[in-house]
Amino acid sequence: LEKCLMNAIKLLPDLLISQIAAGEVVERPASALKEMLENSVDAGAADITVQLVQGGIKLIRVMDNGTGISKEDIPLALARHATSKISTLEDLQQVVSLGFRGEALASIAAVSRLTLASRRAEQKHAWKVQAESGRLSPPEPVALASGTTVEMHDLYFNTPARRKFLKTEATEFSYCEETFKRIALSRPDIGFTLQHNGTVRRHLRAADPRSRIAAVLGDEFSQTSVLIDEQAADLRLWGSAALPAYSRASRDAQYFFVNGRFVRDKLITHALREAYRDVLHLDRYPAFVLFLEMKAESVDANVHPTKIEVRFRDPRALHQFVFHAIDKALATGQPASRGSVLAT
Ligand code: ADP
Ligand code: MG
Repeated sequence: LEKCLMNAIKLLPDLLISQIAAGEVVERPASALKEMLENSVDAGAADITVQLVQGGIKLIRVMDNGTGISKEDIPLALARHATSKISTLEDLQQVVSLGFRGEALASIAAVSRLTLASRRAEQKHAWKVQAESGRLSPPEPVALASGTTVEMHDLYFNTPARRKFLKTEATEFSYCEETFKRIALSRPDIGFTLQHNGTVRRHLRAADPRSRIAAVLGDEFSQTSVLIDEQAADLRLWGSAALPAYSRASRDAQYFFVNGRFVRDKLITHALREAYRDVLHLDRYPAFVLFLEMKAESVDANVHPTKIEVRFRDPRALHQFVFHAIDKALATGQPASRGSVLAT
């Protein structure tokens, strides 16, 4: 400690800054996958394919048919604090994209070998760069349909201390699959494919929300849940909440989205728990897929680097609203008839 105190203060090298940031953003393969998928969604992709090797530790490849990135912008996409999604504080308060911090790709590139190939529709071919330990290769032309392919190879190859925290391939795959499910639930209008070690594990065609929920969570969930659709002032809550017959031994089927973003929130969890209180045994957990929609300025997603936590402007009103919506639906609780379609 004494030695540290005697040292002069100096700015950290760029790579180290990114590696420190990566500690928050890229905890494991699944967190890198989340960032890559969110970028594809933000790019307006209609179809997204994920290929994993060894639970994502060896390779995560995400291919999309979104807008693509121009040759000039590719180095910026990999630079820290560079984003196309916001440019002012007003934008930040109104943000509708999933990303806005401009640090995900830079963080991933700091702790892996990253390649990015991208083509905008108006370009004749795609451009590809490789990044390793903060160094970027010059763009070279490659063949690619318009859109973007990002590959993350060998996560933590240069940060062995972090590599030790990775779990088995099977466990890392299950985290990745969970991430994939969350994004797929939030965007039924997008087609998604998930492959692991060369095998297709999930293939989801673009569908209406109800069909997507059934495709991801299974028919049993859909057939034992009630449809929710409540509106009050600026708030809307819709989706499916399972009847007690489909309760779980863990929180594994709890999906709550705020303006399209999967969140874990104490207040929301509490409101739901309360709504299920009379019908559910204490050691059981409710299952639900719920979408809360509110004005962008009523919720702040800029609380945590991974954005899984948000802050609400009026938590009390929100708690009441969510509680009553679910309480009412469970009280009248007829399972949704097959084939009925959720309003979107
Ligand atoms: P953020 O998403 O917060 O802007 P990222 O580091 O994740 O930051 O990405 C940086 C930029 O790279 C994005 O703002 C976007 O312009 C571009 N980008 C990244 N991934 C894609 C993609 N799949 N398609 C198109 N553009 C992308
Ligand atoms: Mg991003």
